[in-house]
Amino acid sequence: MTDIWQSIIDEIKSHDRIVVSRHSRPDGDAVGSSMGLYHALKAGNPTKQIWLDNEDYSDYVAFLGDEGPHPADEDYQGALVIVVDTGTANRISNKRYDRGDKVIKIDHHIIDNPYGDIVWVEEESPSCAEMVARLCLSFPDVLPLTVEAATCLYTGITTDTGRFRFRGVGASTLQTAAKLLERGIDTERIYANLYLDDYDVLLFRANQTRRIKQTEHGVAYLTISNALQRKYGLSREDASNTVSLMEKIKGCIVWLAFIENEDKSIRVRLRSRFVEVQPLATRYHGGGHACAAGATVYSKEEMQQLIDEADALVADYKAHHDDWL
Ligand code: AMP
Repeated sequence: MTDIWQSIIDEIKSHDRIVVSRHSRPDGDAVGSSMGLYHALKAGNPTKQIWLDNEDYSDYVAFLGDEGPHPADEDYQGALVIVVDTGTANRISNKRYDRGDKVIKIDHHIIDNPYGDIVWVEEESPSCAEMVARLCLSFPDVLPLTVEAATCLYTGITTDTGRFRFRGVGASTLQTAAKLLERGIDTERIYANLYLDDYDVLLFRANQTRRIKQTEHGVAYLTISNALQRKYGLSREDASNTVSLMEKIKGCIVWLAFIENEDKSIRVRLRSRFVEVQPLATRYHGGGHACAAGATVYSKEEMQQLIDEADALVADYKAHHDDWL
């Protein structure tokens, strides 16, 4: 660890221009880890030029602030590009990510296509923000944790761990979060921004709860069509968040949300407890983490096939284990 951390710090010290990027369709961890790193870099390196450069944004964590001006093409000359929270190069929300001098990858996804000149991946880390926070805590002169940086990193940790609940949360997560709290961050404001819903969205969620379907062996699933999204005036994020409606059904250890995209392809959000869904996601143009993964299907038939495979996965798991709930 110390070696890889030291080489990342050496690269930061030896570059005058640094660009930070993250994955497209960003979640709280992607935004939190990239913006947290950006604020720490700015605070510790006032003479350097530092940018965030991404092509899409998230309303959900917009309260963390805007991402500032984009670098020009020529700013990439000799620049260090640090990509956080992104398993594969094709998911980087920045087509120019390889135009600099060097690329550093900091990530916690299961690796399929490696990229980058320096790669620090901890698949077992429950969030990328925790990794960035640990790096900052170890090199406070180069990456000081200002209250802005700590707020972004804490948001990344709390969103990717389901408020410190998911698999992978360990002593180091809580110790790191404690150090961030010591920076004086306002958790009430963070939680209000993350977890309050508009009343209309609450009604939508109540209606959707009635539409949840279950397979024979315990897969819960929901489909959210474009028509439904239009009917309720839903943002993409509101539609995507329906996956969480299914997380508390006893016996349904895999749950899937199918969200129709504008181009009619269907985004799949896969979640599970006990059993791992990442291998299933990779068979449908996706990937992610053991128990939280994403995929895409292109027809109703393919959607049904994925549901059937998930059902078989659960049947097999339940046949060989009796420790599930
Ligand atoms: P999501 O359901 O989109 O929140 O995704 C859950 C996890 O899987 C996140 O860590 C994503 O970064 C990852 N993921 C989502 N879609 C894909 C994909 N198509 N390929 C690889 N990883 C993905």
